[in-house]
Amino acid sequence: MTTLFISDLHLQSERPHITRAFYAFLDQHASQADALYILGDFFNAWLGDDDQTALTLEVASQLKNLSARGIPVYLMHGNRDFLIGKRFCRQAGAKLLPDPTVIDLYGTPALLMHGDSLCLDDTSYQRYRRIIRSPLIRLLPHLLPLSLRQRIARSIRNRSGKAKNHKSARIMDVTPDEAARQLQVHNLSLLIHGHTHRPAIHHQPQRIVLGDWDNLGWYLQWHQDGQHQLVSFSIPEIETPEPPPQSTPG
Ligand code: MN
Repeated sequence: MTTLFISDLHLQSERPHITRAFYAFLDQHASQADALYILGDFFNAWLGDDDQTALTLEVASQLKNLSARGIPVYLMHGNRDFLIGKRFCRQAGAKLLPDPTVIDLYGTPALLMHGDSLCLDDTSYQRYRRIIRSPLIRLLPHLLPLSLRQRIARSIRNRSGKAKNHKSARIMDVTPDEAARQLQVHNLSLLIHGHTHRPAIHHQPQRIVLGDWDNLGWYLQWHQDGQHQLVSFSIPEIETPEPPPQSTPG
């Protein structure tokens, strides 16, 4: 009996080994779990649910397989995929969670966030966040045709050069006082979030930071008895070739 948490996979067609590792994770771990929580930046970019690609359709169907087996899948927006909407969630059989959300983890209440709202020291980012996460921006997919959104995204990518490499983005760390304040506001003592790519288990107050998926994949497993581990595993970039079939003599 465990509940699993992941975030910051930054899924994109340019990194097929990450997607492969995610499917293996679903198969080996999530399929045995009580629930799977995905705390944002699951996709590296999201232009709207109408931007369906081979990747988004395949990921949706993999998640749907999980939820169809009775394992609930919860999804929270990150700063990169905040335009994920009802249509994708329906396709994936996932439930969209607001940021923040309080859940009951086998009797322990936990505050879940993506984490970007905690990085208060990055004032220019917080200004940007207030704009991009405003309800007006949510309307963009309805206001602008997909082709135009794709053109804008391409030009942003070209201008920022190596945007393909998601590590090039500078990410500030959480402002510890803000994390403590959020826990106080909610009267809780456990916070789980991602975003910063600084996986760790902090104490007093207890704050568990999920890792991003790159050379390593990360997940938090929380057992029914309250024991928990932040687990990492290596993600090989090149698929190891299947061994040739052994021919049996005779
Ligand atoms: Mn993020």
